[in-house]
Amino acid sequence: MSYGRPRELHNAVCAECGKECQVPFKPDQSRPVYCRECYAKKRPARSNRY
Ligand SMILES: [Zn+2]
Repeated sequence: MSYGRPRELHNAVCAECGKECQVPFKPDQSRPVYCRECYAKKRPARSNRY
């Protein structure tokens, strides 16, 4: 139970910018995969405004 990899990453292509990225989950064709940047754009951190 001692694998060298801390986490299993899967190669995927961002559905937004088309850049290659790695995701900690298995890419599903039914769901678009976004890279870190696009993912952050899609789901921005909660702002304290309001
Ligand atoms: Zn992207």
